[in-house]
Amino acid sequence: MVTPARRQYLDLKEQYPDAILFFQIGDFYETFDDDAKVVARDAEVHLTSKDFGRAGRVPLAGVPLRALDTYLRKLLAKGHRVAVCEQVSEAGHGLVERAITRIITPGTLIEPQLLRERENTYLAAVNIGRNEAALAYVDVSTGEFAVTPLRGPERDAALAAELGRLGPAEILTARDAPALPNGRLGTVRDRAPFDGEDGAAALKTHFGVASLEGYGCQDLPLACGAAAAILDYLREYNPRLLDGLRGLATYHTDDFMTLDAQTRRNLELVRSGRGGPGGRGLLGVIDRSETAGGGRLLRRWLSQPLLDLTALGARHDAVAEFLAASALRAESRALLDRVGDLERLTGRAIAGTIGPRELHGLRATLALVPELREGLAPLVAPLTVTLRERLDPCAEAGELVVRAIAGANEGRRIRPGYDAELDGLIDGIREARTWIADLERHERERTKIKSLKVGYNKIFGYYLEITNPNLPLTPPEYIRKQTLTSCERFITPELKEFEARIADAEGQINSVEDAIYARVLGELAAQAPRLLGTAAALAQLDVLATFAEVAERQGYIRPYLDQGRGLHIVAGRHPTVEAAVERHTFIPNDIALDADEFDGDGAIMLLTGPNMAGKSTYLRQIALIVLLAQIGAFVPAQAARIGIADRIFTRVGAQDDLAAGQSTFMVEMLETAAILHHATARSLIILDEIGRGTGTLDGLAIARAVIEDIHDRLGARCLFATHYHELLALLDALPRLRACNVTVREDADGIVFLHRIAPGGAARSYGIHVARLAGLPRAVTERAALLLRDLEANAVPLRQLAEEASGYTSAAPAAAPPPAAPQAPEPVSPPPDPAPAPAPVLPTAPTLLPMPAAIPMSASEDAILDEIAALELVDTTPLEALNLLFGVQQRLHARHAAETQAQSAAKGRPEAEGSARRCSLPQGRADRESPQGTG
Ligand code: ADP
Ligand code: MG
Repeated sequence: MVTPARRQYLDLKEQYPDAILFFQIGDFYETFDDDAKVVARDAEVHLTSKDFGRAGRVPLAGVPLRALDTYLRKLLAKGHRVAVCEQVSEAGHGLVERAITRIITPGTLIEPQLLRERENTYLAAVNIGRNEAALAYVDVSTGEFAVTPLRGPERDAALAAELGRLGPAEILTARDAPALPNGRLGTVRDRAPFDGEDGAAALKTHFGVASLEGYGCQDLPLACGAAAAILDYLREYNPRLLDGLRGLATYHTDDFMTLDAQTRRNLELVRSGRGGPGGRGLLGVIDRSETAGGGRLLRRWLSQPLLDLTALGARHDAVAEFLAASALRAESRALLDRVGDLERLTGRAIAGTIGPRELHGLRATLALVPELREGLAPLVAPLTVTLRERLDPCAEAGELVVRAIAGANEGRRIRPGYDAELDGLIDGIREARTWIADLERHERERTKIKSLKVGYNKIFGYYLEITNPNLPLTPPEYIRKQTLTSCERFITPELKEFEARIADAEGQINSVEDAIYARVLGELAAQAPRLLGTAAALAQLDVLATFAEVAERQGYIRPYLDQGRGLHIVAGRHPTVEAAVERHTFIPNDIALDADEFDGDGAIMLLTGPNMAGKSTYLRQIALIVLLAQIGAFVPAQAARIGIADRIFTRVGAQDDLAAGQSTFMVEMLETAAILHHATARSLIILDEIGRGTGTLDGLAIARAVIEDIHDRLGARCLFATHYHELLALLDALPRLRACNVTVREDADGIVFLHRIAPGGAARSYGIHVARLAGLPRAVTERAALLLRDLEANAVPLRQLAEEASGYTSAAPAAAPPPAAPQAPEPVSPPPDPAPAPAPVLPTAPTLLPMPAAIPMSASEDAILDEIAALELVDTTPLEALNLLFGVQQRLHARHAAETQAQSAAKGRPEAEGSARRCSLPQGRADRESPQGTG
């Protein structure tokens, strides 16, 4: 036998088994059983238990009514659904009636307090068919509803990228559907609504149309199924939200630049692991928008760069004009600052959850529109003109609110004079109300009890209260109702009659008022397309003005885009790093690449330089400038001409990618493979220390093969940062490869990072200097320096091995193309290297690896070679490799001590001399290339 309360709970729970049931008991929402455990864990609530009589104790976790939202936020963020069950009858007599009043799921939020103001919250549905797929998504708070087909071999990657872009709070998938990318878990739904034909029918019914042609998805069954699955879900969990879905946009992912998840993360577009303003990465720097809608749009633009020159030119024109018109911009932005969230207010009007105060907020926003229109009138940029014309003040909507909705202090929701029936009802009880209002004064006079009071409570209604000392004066017609310690409470038949009259009328008034209020919201909802059109125009104008504002404050300039494959930037800066360092301390750098010209600036830049020199910063800076240009923003540079990139790929070598915790070589290679499969001649590829995650030799070989493939087959623009100086050997073989390095200056105390990009390969890698800077104990760095000298003395350039291993001949032409020369404002030549024993081939701090190439090949060393061949390089840490090599080296030293002299005399190393000439590298490098000299 379970108690009645427990039975009631179980019955309600049964209705929504997939949701956590919040069960109101007085001032608390209680959760029981497994729900309680989930709430305790995911919302950090204390777990206790409750005794249900003979049913025994069950787990219990409760939260106070008033704190509900705080806990809801936590649970929703973890992907839970919540059903809120409230008491719907007064407590007191027997079992309280309860009903589920709200169901909240992460993807169907409309409550402002649960939403992020400047971010969309999406509910998505993924429909995967045999050869195709489709993705639909909706933001129920704004009515944005869109669907895209995903076809061809790229379909899985495109789906992953779209899910990465949208970051849906909830994803619906059909039962038995294949797993979602990136291991995301979907909300599993019945397959039926995903069915294409039924889906199309459901959409037609929802929109009340005979054909889906107007929505562009008439021939896309999977897309219809995905969109219909969303409708189906809303119908089950929150049907009133369906009204907010007024249109459906079919889009195609190849209309935009695809940014895969790694690139998004590497570029820290909306989130930064390393801080940045508010931890919001690039968004934190450029989002100076004034409106919530503008903030959301900017975020969307940032994740959906354009490929269309005309559209981008239109945005840039508009920004340029806003930039020039600074006074006008300031005024417009001041107006925008006062604008409410028209999009979401409209959404809530449609859903019927908007309150009178917010309706007046909506009206106040509309009232600003004419002024804004007038302010923008002088601007002539075509996009601005179009948007300005779309600013519809929606006068009818504004007037309706003024006429119908009462102000804050009027006590009711509907304004007097708006509805005759309502006014009549209110008038009808005016007499009774006045009578009660006057009762206290009246009765005090009559009874001569000065302290007599008229009060009200929920249980007894109105009563007369007389304190104990005055009780003898109580009139005989008073009927005693309640005795308290210091007073007694009475009623009179007359009082109860007036009270009943008021209560009856109040009930009627409330229901009439509800109906009128709903009717007003209905009329507003009918204006939704106009309201939303205005909201969209406001958001766009806000973003364009924001780009201008950022350009002015941060010194950004207009980039010029074309259809070519060039990439020319003068004095570019990294927007986020620049914002984080002291003003004017960021060192700008140029770039000049051109994949169109065979003999021009080159298409691939090989960037070397010690750790901490600024390689990663430079690489990301180039990508971010291109990205900013392609969302229509101005860019941090002095000048920029950029051939539109169809995609930007970035990969960061495993050891550089610590934040993500993905340090396996496999991941790195998977990502690199994806680039080589998906990039085109128009792409921009950023590779930062690729190949680091494995044994050095593999890494070098892979890095080289990747560069060759990009150079020979893809022809894409590529920046490749590496600590493999050996790759510089590729300069001879790959005519469109250019070398640059990030310069450092050596002084008495060590090295100074100049953060300046100069032509040519880096002279040395300064690993030990960096280690010293990082605070490694002096004894350790000194020991390392000693070891290094020892290693160098025995090293043969790895390039020799690399060349032998690949098909590229080392007999290259004597006259090599000179290294690319970006127009550095003050070109700094690489430091001369005075060291008689030149710097190592390799070491950067974390991978201080001597090269296996140091082992002269001879049959007697087969054993050592076998040992190396048997190595599982993927599983070998740099330290293990180092230890192993020391062992090998020691054995070799012993054996070769005697032979060394004769061997070096016989061999003479002509190839080392050749390579120095061939590369026409700066002096320091040439020295390094032939460590043993030429004699
Ligand atoms: P690398 O990839 O070569 O190891 P990073 O790009 O990570 O070096 O840069 C190291 C640090 O140097 C950055 O955190 C940044 O603070 C600073 N830095 C990099 N480039 C610049 C620059 N152009 N101007 C000023 N500081 C810079
Ligand atoms: Mg780096």
